[in-house]
Amino acid sequence: MLMLPDFRVRQRDFLLEISRAITAQLDLTEVLRRVLNASVVMLSAQMGFIALRNENAGFYIVRTTPNIKDDLISALNLSLKEVITDEDNQIDFDILNEKLGEMKTLLDPRLRQSVALPFIIAGEPLGLLVVFLLSPFAASPNDVQILQSFADQAAIAVHNAQLYTRIDHERKRLAAILQYSADGVMLLEPDLRISRFNRALERMTAWTAQEAIGCTHDEIIVWQQLEQHDLKDAMMNGWPYQNTHDDTLYVQGDLLRRDGLPLSIGILYAPFFGSDGRLVNIIANVRDITNFRRAQEMQSVFISSISHELKTPVAIIKGYAATLRRDDVTWDAPTVQEYSAVIEEESDRLTEPIQNLLIASKIQAERGISLDVGDVWLVELLERAVERFKTQTDKHQFVFNVPPDLPVIRGDEVKLRQVVDNLLSNAIKYSPNGGTTEVGAYTHTQPTGDNFVTLYVRDEGVGISETDQERIFERFYRVDSKLSRKTQGTGLGLFLAKTIVEAHKGMIRVESKVGQGSTFFVSLPVAV
Ligand code: ADP
Repeated sequence: MLMLPDFRVRQRDFLLEISRAITAQLDLTEVLRRVLNASVVMLSAQMGFIALRNENAGFYIVRTTPNIKDDLISALNLSLKEVITDEDNQIDFDILNEKLGEMKTLLDPRLRQSVALPFIIAGEPLGLLVVFLLSPFAASPNDVQILQSFADQAAIAVHNAQLYTRIDHERKRLAAILQYSADGVMLLEPDLRISRFNRALERMTAWTAQEAIGCTHDEIIVWQQLEQHDLKDAMMNGWPYQNTHDDTLYVQGDLLRRDGLPLSIGILYAPFFGSDGRLVNIIANVRDITNFRRAQEMQSVFISSISHELKTPVAIIKGYAATLRRDDVTWDAPTVQEYSAVIEEESDRLTEPIQNLLIASKIQAERGISLDVGDVWLVELLERAVERFKTQTDKHQFVFNVPPDLPVIRGDEVKLRQVVDNLLSNAIKYSPNGGTTEVGAYTHTQPTGDNFVTLYVRDEGVGISETDQERIFERFYRVDSKLSRKTQGTGLGLFLAKTIVEAHKGMIRVESKVGQGSTFFVSLPVAV
């Protein structure tokens, strides 16, 4: 039996423990350890545990005295599951008492008494402290009241620690989002010093976060070329204090990176105001807009090349048709024949870019291409293509290096013909001085065991630089050279070829040396 003065001393120690825990510790585990230890000592208890509320229902044990074996915890948790009522989310004390009885037997049959103290915050049961005693300790209503007030203290400590954990968790989550965001993000203090600098920004600027933090915005963001006012100008003109509905600021231009290379970026600055209306931070979101710029450039190049591509044959057709229609001249049959042939040829020339455009837009809309798969005799397909192109040029010689026993593959014949036609047409277009074009094929087995046929088209033309080799398969991309400006094309041919080949689970690649010629290889699996 506990003597009252003794109890008071313990009560004071307990209070001291808890308040120390609250003031000195925000670590939830440590708070729980102290609360449990103090309660066990205070009640001369044998063992005990603290359980916290589960998000769904019931309690789960988070801390036990060392003499409760780990393998019993799941059984105790199971008992605690039913303690919270479904209807009002409160503790059902009848069930709790019943469960405590079961727990006593489970833990040690010699246990005589259990004391359970709920931690309540704003009417919500937040947790439960349970201790088990060997001696029968009959607490008076007054003792229970005092114990409960300790539990309330403990509840505040737990609640604070939980809040702190949640805030800390949220802070870490935000820091991780910021750190791993694909966009560059930095945080500026009101004097425009950098206080945060994420990974993406390290990559974009070639400055490390360690170096950048503490520097001013202008030391790191150096514009090589700016399309409008920068942050400083805007701030001198009153930003971000003007009362407009959108208080963000967007600046776009070429950044001069630390390593001297330029990078096209757009920065969105957003002010963050404190409750007193003062500027606390500026959050700068930095985006690499190189691809967007490229797309814009390619689009304008494309528009001019497609107009050129369409305009020339249309002008020729119109000229020949107008000539034929003249009623002051009578044309003899061979002339009519010749002029009509030109009209037909030019109409054919119109079909190709239009067809390419249609397919390209279809690919974009459908995010892919559909294949009409059948047996394809590549030898025949290649032979026919070479025959067709031979008639179009006198300057070029053709070498045919395709084994007659090349396997028949599964694929879309019409689309594969388009790929071959495109490679041959390019080989001629980009070999303005003529030369030999070799068309070949061979079979091989991949390390995966799959059989492939590789066909190639080799020319002795102008060749393609390494930088351009990386981009020629992009939609609308054309090498910027005197020759390509003179040569008709839309920059769609190789893009379509790549899409078609990849739809066959194949590969297309180029080997080339400027001034010496190019070889395009297309590898296709024998069975799609
Ligand atoms: P287009 O020929 O209509 O411009 P492509 O997509 O077929 O479009 O080719 C893209 C670019 O790749 C061409 O503009 C050209 O500069 C380059 N290219 C393609 N094939 C060859 C080749 N055989 N030799 C040299 N350059 C080539």
